[in-house]
Order: sequence, then structure tokens, then C-alpha cells
Amino acid sequence: MLIASILVGIALPFAGAFALFAAYLCLVRYAITMAGMRGRLRAEAAAEQHKGLPKSELEKLPATEAGGEEEGRECCVCLEGIERGQRTRVLPLCKHSFHLACLDQWLARNAACPVCRTSLLTLLLPLPLPLPINAADQNC
Ligand SMILES: [Zn+2]
Ligand SMILES: [Zn+2]
Repeated sequence: MLIASILVGIALPFAGAFALFAAYLCLVRYAITMAGMRGRLRAEAAAEQHKGLPKSELEKLPATEAGGEEEGRECCVCLEGIERGQRTRVLPLCKHSFHLACLDQWLARNAACPVCRTSLLTLLLPLPLPLPINAADQNC
């Protein structure tokens, strides 16, 4: 009987320490899981923001040859001037204009105007269009 109580006396602290260690392991695993989930959520949110415009929508945007109105403006993607006769696209919401190739490249990665950040994803929603901003304010 004495031996048994001595054994219990030795084993109990070990059992206690083990229980604490197990609880600690659980906490660590929980923290790692939560951090992973948060990281994933953040990555998803970032991916959402940096989603380009679908190609089918890109092709619906009006493309024109630069005329008198676009001439002399700067394409804010390549920072070069838009010259008469060059293929350009004018964004339907904010009326900012760019070289067609420059804008298409940009919109494939980012569905927002490079100048004023007006999201083109709103075009995909069946909502009335907001009033256009005066395109003469195009400043890079
Ligand atoms: Zn350009
Ligand atoms: Zn714009």
C-alpha cells in the first residue's frame, strides 16, 4: 500500500505535466490553424481585388481610332501621348482614354481604371451607370 502511494506520488506530477504539455500542443495547433485560415482569407481578398476584367467584357468596351478629342492626351499606362489614328479605348464610366493595347493589358490584371480606379466590375452588375466624370480632367 505504501509502495502504491509512493508510485502515485511520483506519477501524479508527471501526469500533470503531461496534461499541461498536451494542452499547450492543442493551443499551438489551434494558433497555427487560425493563422493559416487568416492568411488564406487575406489571399482570397487580395485575389478578389486584383481580378482582371473577363475577356468577354473587355471586348465589349468601345474601341476607336484616336481623333481630335483624344489627341494630345497621355496614356497613363505607358505614359506616352495618344496620337491621331492610334487605336484607343475610352472607359465607359469615367471616359478616361488609353491606347487599346495598354488598357487591355492593364484590365486583364486589374478591373479598374488606371487613373481614377473606377471599378469596371460594376459594369457586370445590372445597375444604372453612375454619371460620367468630365474626361477633360485626365491627369496621370
Ligand atoms: Zn499606352
Ligand atoms: Zn478613370
